[in-house]
Amino acid sequence: MPGISKAQTPDGNDLLEGYAAAVEGYDELMADGVVRPQWMPFLEHCAGLDAAAGDGDHGATMVRGLRAAHAAAKAANGSAGDLLVVAGAAFADAGGGASGALLGALITTVGRGLGDGPYDLTTTTTASGLPVISAVQRGLEEASAPTMARIPEMIDWLSETLGPYPFDSVGAIVVDAPDVGFAGLETQGRPVLTVVPSDDLMIHELSHQWFGDSVSVASWNEIWLNEGFASYIEALWFAHDGVITADQVYNSNSYPPPEDPFWSKPPGPDTLTDPADLFGAPVYARGAMTLHALRLEVGDDTFFEILRTWAADHADGNLTTVQFIALAEDISGQQLDGLFTALLSTPARPALD
Ligand SMILES: [Zn+2]
Repeated sequence: MPGISKAQTPDGNDLLEGYAAAVEGYDELMADGVVRPQWMPFLEHCAGLDAAAGDGDHGATMVRGLRAAHAAAKAANGSAGDLLVVAGAAFADAGGGASGALLGALITTVGRGLGDGPYDLTTTTTASGLPVISAVQRGLEEASAPTMARIPEMIDWLSETLGPYPFDSVGAIVVDAPDVGFAGLETQGRPVLTVVPSDDLMIHELSHQWFGDSVSVASWNEIWLNEGFASYIEALWFAHDGVITADQVYNSNSYPPPEDPFWSKPPGPDTLTDPADLFGAPVYARGAMTLHALRLEVGDDTFFEILRTWAADHADGNLTTVQFIALAEDISGQQLDGLFTALLSTPARPALD
């Protein structure tokens, strides 16, 4: 099972297999090769969020929640969107927590959906030969087709930009569940989109395969390392596509004025203390702005070397902002703590070009 490593079992135990085995029918869910065992193991993430929510017993609640969600989904006879709601509610009732609700809902929904056949399955490969296996809920195929068709191109571009794709296959799953509360979730190896995907949504979720799924955060308050990175890669893709350059995105004209509350919640790990802010705008936009500031400071060659080294040296790792700053300083030979403090941890608008 490539990709399963200490990142998924941070305590060095066999939690992963325990979780998988605990879900009735899980083997069936994986049998078609679309639902992957690697989807289970965002355990360190769930643990962090549950801990932040005051629920430290994540192991027991995950298993309990997954069982409840799976049973509820099997008993339900609704649409994929209904199933997400049913399974998510059952999970939450069982004490699975918010992150667990998403995980359980996705596994049960996608597993059931594929089993019942309302998905259009496609298989292709990237130019480099990586399998691309996707599933689009019937009825959304036509609208989704333009972006789905670009997945191989996106993966090849991301591989050139960030280094080799970290897993052994890729693809995406599109479900009609616009009310579930997120448009995309970067499930490892195969993101789930709950709406007809756009190119920027797709590139965001695919970039998480490097930053989020392979290189994972050590705790939730480091989440800008996932979301700031994925957001910045959206801008890089726009530039690659000739739409707009990163400089045009990240300048003083594109951000709120200094007095705006946006600046009062800096996304650094020392200042991101409220779970309600985990997926707030500063984590994404100010996180991405931090990377752009770093790029301007160290230059393109060094910047992309930093990104590629971060991905390559820490595949399957669980990391912190402190480690990222150390790597950036090491590769650039520059003192960068002031930059990161201003961008990530200061409750004021940083200087912008
Ligand atoms: Zn994201």
